[in-house]
Amino acid sequence: MGGRERHFIEEAFDTGWVVPLGPNVDRFEKSLQEYLDTGHRVVALSSGTAAIHLALKQLGVGRGDEVVCQSFTFAASAFPITYQCATPVFVDSEPDTWNLSPALLERAITERKARTGRAPKAIIVVHLYGMPARMDAIVDIAARHRIPLVEDAAEALGSEYGGRKCGTMGEFGVLSFNGNKVITTSGGGALVCRTAEQALQTIFLATQARENRPYYHHETVGYNYRLSNISAGIGRGQMEILPRLVARRREIHALYRRLFASTRGIRVMENPGPGFDSNFWLTCITLSGDLPAGLSPESLRRHLEGAGIEARHLWKPLHLQPVFATAPAFTDGTSEGLFARGLCLPSGAGLTDDDITRVAHRVMEIVK
Ligand SMILES: *Cc1c(COP(=O)(O)O)cnc(C)c1O
Repeated sequence: MGGRERHFIEEAFDTGWVVPLGPNVDRFEKSLQEYLDTGHRVVALSSGTAAIHLALKQLGVGRGDEVVCQSFTFAASAFPITYQCATPVFVDSEPDTWNLSPALLERAITERKARTGRAPKAIIVVHLYGMPARMDAIVDIAARHRIPLVEDAAEALGSEYGGRKCGTMGEFGVLSFNGNKVITTSGGGALVCRTAEQALQTIFLATQARENRPYYHHETVGYNYRLSNISAGIGRGQMEILPRLVARRREIHALYRRLFASTRGIRVMENPGPGFDSNFWLTCITLSGDLPAGLSPESLRRHLEGAGIEARHLWKPLHLQPVFATAPAFTDGTSEGLFARGLCLPSGAGLTDDDITRVAHRVMEIVK
């Protein structure tokens, strides 16, 4: 916190807007739109997962369809595919962005088309840990096969690719304001839409699909996915400090990089080239070279825990998850390798330089 979150919540109470719509929702959406700086329309929802669900719903994903999804991500990227009774097709990452491999994406589309006679209905690309995916190649492949792209930017608010904000490059973009993300509304998300029609349809579906009649009349199945005006008040306050929060995440990453610069065996995940500008939601490291006996991400994590420092494993690839055991997957070992060697370090914008230095020194002691 740090902006005027409490002020906007109190305003909601004082004016009676304790409901899932109201001035805070409108203003929060507007400030997100301005921040993304495009002609896009932003609809605030109860979670990022709900946003992915409503994107797939509007792209017509249904029973029997296949949806390509990056395997190296949080399960919430793919769960909504199953809500729609469709099948995820998992695609591995490339080593430098850790995101969707264009080569494997091309192969997955071609092979699934040949096998099922139909193209996948959508592609979900993720900007993991804030790092933009290689969007020029991915947008090109999606366009060539005429498959709409859903951009999961849940971790990437503030990240840019080629000067464009993550979340604005696909048919739909997804944001999350869960407690652990770059900004929080305690829980919440948003769908970034290209057109006003998509935005209206998103609101319609998110508010129980009520038709415009004086009584309750429903012709389609709806959802209760709109963001509360109380939560949006927190979001409004957070938007006032968003640039500062992103700048701090980047500073923390730069500090870790400096501290680890001369440590053999530790690699810090970095922007892989010009055009990539991660928000560094989390600073991630991988253990490189031959790992000495007894050293693994899990042993490192446990040592840090003993010192009162919480580190976390990288996302376990979805093609390895028991819940998705039967889903087709196009893999080359990249995400499995990252999972076997990587760790997320404490990266919250509230941490001080001293905190980061203490974490880095502990990591170096253990690795050495
Ligand atoms: C957090 C997250 C989501 C889901 O967002 P919620 O708001 O928690 O539902 C989806 N995808 C990724 C990559 C995430 O990190």
